[in-house]
Amino acid sequence: MKVYEKAPAKINLLLDVLRKREDGFHEVEMVMTMVDLADRLEMEELPRDTIIISSQAGYIPLDEKNLAFQAAKLIKERCDVRKGVYIHLDKNIPVAAGLAGGSSDAAATLRGLNRLWGLDISEDELCRLGAELGSDVPYCVTGGTAIARGRGEKLERIASPPQCWVVLAKPPINVSTADVYGKLRASELKRHPSLSGMRAAIEEGSFSGICSHLGNVLESVTLPMYPEVMQLKDIMRRLGADGVLMSGSGPTVFGLVGKEAKVSRIYNGLRGFCKEVYVVRMLT
Ligand code: ATP
Repeated sequence: MKVYEKAPAKINLLLDVLRKREDGFHEVEMVMTMVDLADRLEMEELPRDTIIISSQAGYIPLDEKNLAFQAAKLIKERCDVRKGVYIHLDKNIPVAAGLAGGSSDAAATLRGLNRLWGLDISEDELCRLGAELGSDVPYCVTGGTAIARGRGEKLERIASPPQCWVVLAKPPINVSTADVYGKLRASELKRHPSLSGMRAAIEEGSFSGICSHLGNVLESVTLPMYPEVMQLKDIMRRLGADGVLMSGSGPTVFGLVGKEAKVSRIYNGLRGFCKEVYVVRMLT
């Protein structure tokens, strides 16, 4: 038997860090939503008690370092499943890009194996398992648009933003999320984005309100380290994107665009500076 799952990329419309906690994690407030750029996972039961990962992408680990492998191992152990699984990852989401590709693969593996093995695990329980794998995994289990608090695992579902185009541009650098959080001095942050403003804009369905409330405090670390990210933001703004922000810890920059007529100009303009540019829709 085989099951298929889609693992979409996430963007942060807002990412705030409130403080560093005693356990070393950061207390965050994030508004997350998904875009129509996705990895595709195929999972097939194996009679032998083993986990095998394959992918067409040559640049991700295929052993126990792969988050899909870790998700499969975790669910097998917790549910005492003695069967094996073959997981093929069709990677489309750029890696170490701030788009939660690995987390979304892990979440899709949890959802898929729950179905493949008929485990009947509730969504809440899948989220709890996901939290053991990474801070973004619980959100990726449920998807939609959500406010994430705590270290990312406390989720509140909110309305979807109005439909728009999202242009993603990833400069040719890989940014380590752990490195960016490690360099952040949360107590020294001078400005915080307004969660209440963003929530109100989303609830009112105000595209311009969403664009004006975009904010990500991790830009204060990543932009000085990688000037090309700042440059991409400027170019995207000049080309006419309505709202521009770095996603997660970067380096991907996204632009929200309301009018389809503007999209190809922005895409073509960016392609002159950056090889990896994607035009996608917001998943609503
Ligand atoms: P986030 O936004 O959650 O910080 P990211 O988009 O910055 O995530 P990922 O693409 O998830 O980063 O990759 C981070 C690291 O995880 C990479 O070094 C990669 O080798 C490793 N990794 C493990 N499993 C996967 C996977 N299934 N897909 C992509 N990367 C993976």
